[in-house]
Amino acid sequence: MRPIHVIGGGLAGSEAAWQIASRGIPVVLHEMRPVRTTAAHKTDGFAELVCSNSFRSDDCGTNAIGLLHEEMRRLGSLVMHAGDAHQLPAGGALAVDRDGFSAAVTAALAAHPLIDIRREEIAALPLEDWDSVIVATGPLTSPALAASIRAATGEDALAFFDAIAPIVHRDSIDMSIAWLQSRYDKAGPGGSGADYINCPMTREQYEAFVDALLAGDKVAFHDWEAATPYFDGCLPIEVMAERGRETLRHGPMKPFGLTNPRAPQEKAYAVVQLRQDNRLGTLYNIVGFQTKLKHGEQVRIFRTIPGLQQAEFARLGGLHRNTFLNSPVLLDETLRLKAAPRLRFAGQITGCEGYVESAAVGLLAGRFAAAERLGENITLPPPTTAHGALLGHITGGHIETIDAGPHSFQPMNVNFGLFPPLTRVPTRGPEGERLRGTAKTIAKKRALTERALADLAQWTAGGHAAAAE
Ligand SMILES: Cc1cc2nc3c(=O)[nH]c(=O)nc-3n(C[C@H](O)[C@H](O)[C@H](O)COP(=O)(O)OP(=O)(O)OC[C@H]3O[C@@H](n4cnc5c(N)ncnc54)[C@H](O)[C@@H]3O)c2cc1C
Repeated sequence: MRPIHVIGGGLAGSEAAWQIASRGIPVVLHEMRPVRTTAAHKTDGFAELVCSNSFRSDDCGTNAIGLLHEEMRRLGSLVMHAGDAHQLPAGGALAVDRDGFSAAVTAALAAHPLIDIRREEIAALPLEDWDSVIVATGPLTSPALAASIRAATGEDALAFFDAIAPIVHRDSIDMSIAWLQSRYDKAGPGGSGADYINCPMTREQYEAFVDALLAGDKVAFHDWEAATPYFDGCLPIEVMAERGRETLRHGPMKPFGLTNPRAPQEKAYAVVQLRQDNRLGTLYNIVGFQTKLKHGEQVRIFRTIPGLQQAEFARLGGLHRNTFLNSPVLLDETLRLKAAPRLRFAGQITGCEGYVESAAVGLLAGRFAAAERLGENITLPPPTTAHGALLGHITGGHIETIDAGPHSFQPMNVNFGLFPPLTRVPTRGPEGERLRGTAKTIAKKRALTERALADLAQWTAGGHAAAAE
């Protein structure tokens, strides 16, 4: 049987290679380290964790990342198997001994008779005689290969920085203060004229907000990140505030063309706008608010915005060196490049974020490529599972907008905002008592994870059994 080629032996590529080989299909795994390295990797091991040693919460009952762990275990994940075997004490989180973890992944791949490891840089998209390829070269894809991908996908389709604006759960926004309206009521393609959530500010509130941005604690760029220029369209809000006290009011916080229906005579001094971020309508991003403020500072400062006092954040803002595709436009639902379907993408380059999410997308890409090689029909994971929700974010769930500025598709960790809402939200506990506050939130999360694991079981029963068992 002809091999499937996997380029990149990080979190995604290692998992993809394992899944393919576990189905009896030969794999050639191309990893450039140690011949060539990246600015963040330090070893020649597979699945190296370049920064923290945490896989985050392991609670599969009430946490979306914990649920993803559990689903991956049930799907025979090598990354989760090695992570569990090298676990360190870390409370409810799954922290791992990074060297032991990477050594275990490396040993498993090296020992597999169907995996041929080649230590070489693939400097351009491979020629046609590789008929099935998974590109999993990560956020620090080598410059030569990135240039080749850019040439194949188009100038604007591959970003070298993410410009992440915070994302808020829609149901935590106080709509007794905020209102729905598009600037000048413009409908645009696919809009209604009332597509944005608007949070008004008085002059005093705006001045205090600018002071807080200027004083807030920020994260510094790495030296190698600072060398990559970022564009004026993606400036962090605190940098805009440094350029002049009025800059934000003439940029992302401009109040023009917006009228508060509760006080039509009063003109807001500034307006913060939130735009729908996923097709489900459960998440809204704060428009133009990419930032290098530390996470705690973001929560503190953004909760001073009228209407966002109780905001729950699905993701906080950031700006990092990151190579990623405009996947909702470029990839089909099985992660193949529409323009060249023999090429699949996996891991962070597809627009997921995080070690575990990258490995999960590698797991899916590996399974899809293996099924295709075996002539089987590919069945997608249900959108109610963590895998399905993540895949939905990458390949289809995102709302494209008419606005100029940074890429509207941005990388994201798995979170419950990506899941289809429950058809029935639990309102009573086991004793029949009425649920309120935190108890209600926890019951809702439990219902989401139970639904996910039940739907995953149905999916695997339909021929998608765990690969490594
Ligand atoms: C500096 C930094 C810190 C991060 N910290 C965290 C964190 O703390 N927690 C977290 O969850 N996530 C973190 N991430 C995000 C992300 O989850 C990780 O980068 C993750 O490793 C991505 O997995 P991946 O498989 O997509 O890419 P990687 O794990 O980076 O794997 C890509 C592999 O491809 C190889 N490669 C690249 N180009 C080529 C080529 N042309 N030919 C052959 N091989 C090639 C690389 O050497 C590498 O081994 C961080 C990212 C960066 C850049």
